Amino acid sequence: MSTQEAVGVGAGDLGRDSWDAVVVGAGTAGCYAAATIADAGYDVVIIERKSPEEAGHIACGDALKGADTFPDAIPKSQLEPAFTNTGVDHGRFEIPQEDTVLEIPVPGELAVVDRWTYGRKVIEGAADAGATFHYDTVVQDVRQTDDGTVTGVDAIRKGTPRTYDAEIVVDGAGALSILQDKADLADSTFDTNVTYSQFCSAYREIVHVDEPVEWSDALVFKPTERAAGYLWYFPRTETEINAGLGFQMTEEPMHLVDDLKRDLRNRAEFQGARVEDKLGAAIPTRRPYDSAVHPGFVAVGDAAGHVNPTTGGGIAGAAYAGTYAAEQAIEAMEQGTVDEDVLWRYNERVMDHFGARYAALDVYNILSTAVDIDELMGLLAAMPGEQIAEALYSGSANLGWGLKIKALLKARGHYGTVWNLYKTKQRADELLSHYEDYPSSPAGFDTWQAERDRLMESVYETTGADPKY
Ligand SMILES: Cc1cc2nc3c(=O)[nH]c(=O)nc-3n(C[C@H](O)[C@H](O)[C@H](O)COP(=O)(O)OP(=O)(O)OC[C@H]3O[C@@H](n4cnc5c(N)ncnc54)[C@H](O)[C@@H]3O)c2cc1C
Repeated sequence: MSTQEAVGVGAGDLGRDSWDAVVVGAGTAGCYAAATIADAGYDVVIIERKSPEEAGHIACGDALKGADTFPDAIPKSQLEPAFTNTGVDHGRFEIPQEDTVLEIPVPGELAVVDRWTYGRKVIEGAADAGATFHYDTVVQDVRQTDDGTVTGVDAIRKGTPRTYDAEIVVDGAGALSILQDKADLADSTFDTNVTYSQFCSAYREIVHVDEPVEWSDALVFKPTERAAGYLWYFPRTETEINAGLGFQMTEEPMHLVDDLKRDLRNRAEFQGARVEDKLGAAIPTRRPYDSAVHPGFVAVGDAAGHVNPTTGGGIAGAAYAGTYAAEQAIEAMEQGTVDEDVLWRYNERVMDHFGARYAALDVYNILSTAVDIDELMGLLAAMPGEQIAEALYSGSANLGWGLKIKALLKARGHYGTVWNLYKTKQRADELLSHYEDYPSSPAGFDTWQAERDRLMESVYETTGADPKY
């Protein structure tokens, strides 16, 4: 496996223990947060457990939706060298059970990226903005005062314990962040209702083929035979494919490596293919955290569930969450208080931009754990592509009457599922509108949450699914 050159190494500051802000994790969320804080003139360090050479090498499908709009802290132009395929414009859903392939338009700008190069570019962006990087440093604990305010982290670098004090800690440590296991967050609004069953276990390989694939303008999706998951084939170029799969952790575990190997073996375009790189990780496939703030502490990106739970796409959400959290952290440092009240606006901006939509999309995820997958695929095969696309990304879909009648005629034999889907869509719409009333301060949080939980009860009742939260 190739490695790349180190960037952003702040060697001069390795012994320093006091910072304005500490960011844990040099992923998308952490780098956008640190770039924003550094741009405002504050001293910020990113603590990353990987080496300088390995940082930015992150398990991913490499598909970038929303590639047109990245926050300014690290502009899109700086990331563009990593965009290896900007010719992708639709999803190709293969439904073997129905012997059908659906070509579905994907709204907004799409790209497939060389993920490691992209990872290096966001690190470079944060370094250019003035952030310091401490690599090979693993955060192991969170420092808190007696009243619970977070004041820093404890870490270890190559066997030596290190302490970091800061006015604010940004948790960008990714899915199942250790910081949230260690910190006592019970006395704030911070969402601690997080369990492994709200995650998907995923794995991918980079595969090289000799002949160009026919679908180099598409993101290919295919349901797995079981375990409420899907396989994907995302073309980085015509001959370099990111091939992967994932399953919901509520289900019987899949043998990810073997299952992928079997599918690759059965596809003519991968005969004689060479595998270059193998990585796996967990993806949050849940609603965003109800609140990702605690005095002195904010969580961003995967560490706060900022992923589209139906597609597993989390890069764009991480970039925006990192930026919004940092802007609020700056506000807090300027006001000289890091209370939840001051940090709260970050929650509101996340919910307003994408959180409400993701919470509504999670309803369809919940449905998928309760219905027969073959039945659902049969119905999908009968539905108009534009509406499936809209449902996948907007959290809601409206069929015109002509399309409704056409879809209903085609869906003959699936009317039970159609009814189920129709009722589920009503629940998702109710939830979406409740999230639009997300409170403007922590004071309204309990009441909002109680009503949301009541709406979730009706989601479980409608779908027949086991409660997820
Ligand atoms: C297999 C797979 C496929 C995916 N496919 C796509 C896709 O096609 N498109 C898409 O948009 N999204 C995809 N995602 C999701 C996407 O990768 C994430 O949403 C995104 O990377 C989140 O960024 P982040 O900065 O929050 O976290 P991460 O990118 O995970 O970064 C976290 C960083 O924190 C570091 N870290 C963790 N713990 C510590 C510690 N204790 N001390 C110090 N450092 C620590 C890690 O080393 C890492 O560098 C996929 C995810 C997986 C697992």
